[in-house]
Amino acid sequence: MKEYVEQNLKNVNTTKVLDFIRKKSKVTKAELAEETNLTFAAISNIINGLMKAGMIKECGEGASSGGRKPLLYELNSEALYVVGIDVSIDEQIRFGLFTFDTVLVYELCMDPPAVKGPDEYIKIIKNGLKTLVDHEKIDYQKILGIGVSIPGPINTTTGEVVSPPNLPLWRNVPLKRMLEKELHIPIKIEKDANLSALGEKWFGAGKEVNNLVYLFVGEGIGSGVILNGTLIGNSEIGHCTIDSAGPRCNCGNYGCLELKASGLAIVKKVKEGLQLGYPSNYPYPKSEQISFSNVLKAIESNDPFTLKIVEEAANYLGIGLTNVINNFNPDLIIIGGKLPEKYERMIELSAGIARNRAFEVFQKKLSIIPGKLKERSIIMGAAALVLEDVFGE
Ligand SMILES: [Zn+2]
Repeated sequence: MKEYVEQNLKNVNTTKVLDFIRKKSKVTKAELAEETNLTFAAISNIINGLMKAGMIKECGEGASSGGRKPLLYELNSEALYVVGIDVSIDEQIRFGLFTFDTVLVYELCMDPPAVKGPDEYIKIIKNGLKTLVDHEKIDYQKILGIGVSIPGPINTTTGEVVSPPNLPLWRNVPLKRMLEKELHIPIKIEKDANLSALGEKWFGAGKEVNNLVYLFVGEGIGSGVILNGTLIGNSEIGHCTIDSAGPRCNCGNYGCLELKASGLAIVKKVKEGLQLGYPSNYPYPKSEQISFSNVLKAIESNDPFTLKIVEEAANYLGIGLTNVINNFNPDLIIIGGKLPEKYERMIELSAGIARNRAFEVFQKKLSIIPGKLKERSIIMGAAALVLEDVFGE
């Protein structure tokens, strides 16, 4: 079956047919012919091939338009599986096992290793994969591919992790090659925010659009950009300049959006405010111990001091959004990550600023909304990364 996929990947008509079956779930040959503009004979040929390979199956009869009732076809959900893995260094490693018809059947989180190097992570990935396969009792050979998320920037062609800031053990690591050698399954590597964008496009808030920008607002600010339905390489919207007179950023630039609107920027402002004697209702620990998770808890407790700082950050995020709108003219901007998840008003506030500033004509078709998939956006995008080869998206 995997061989069939490999041989037919390049056949646009086969992927078109498969994609339409995936989207409609149950279809007749006549509907496929109409949708794809292929002849009935060509559709029959493709259907026969897919049936033989076990990738689709018959599932009853459709409505008759006079003569015999036509057969309905659907994807064979257990024909193949894909796995999405979210390797967020420092946080838990999240695994998702998906059926061929893109349903998440099993999810698993594992603790990160004590030493944060590639070899240690590969060991955990191997164990996690074994747990998924054993739990669902599936044939290992049925795993079509694995999508892996890693902090960028990365070289998606070679699957090499290039130079994630603050991760010295991950400079120039050929992760794709290392994982394929260990697991014997095709691996695709992509940076985290790109996969969130892809996940939302396939499964979440961005299903109906072709031009979308995903902004992840957590400790840092990540971005993923999809134009004309395709992910563009390594965008870094978090590092566009918001304040030309601002301080130096780790990236080399000055006054980046990330220094003004990210979780870590808010942590810094909270420390400064407390040192200046501003009162807070939240019991913050000593200055050097204040973390992003304290800030999230303070937001939850509606602490006015913290909320004021978050709202200032939202203003800067609004300026960042204005740049995004004027640069890309997207149909949709999705804002995800722990900050807007905890404080959705951050999205309203920043969208309000952007609406006041961005090109008016670009705003007519634009929506700015929260992400739908939350903490699962990355594993779902990682699964989509593998499946887009099969379904031709
Ligand atoms: Zn920067």
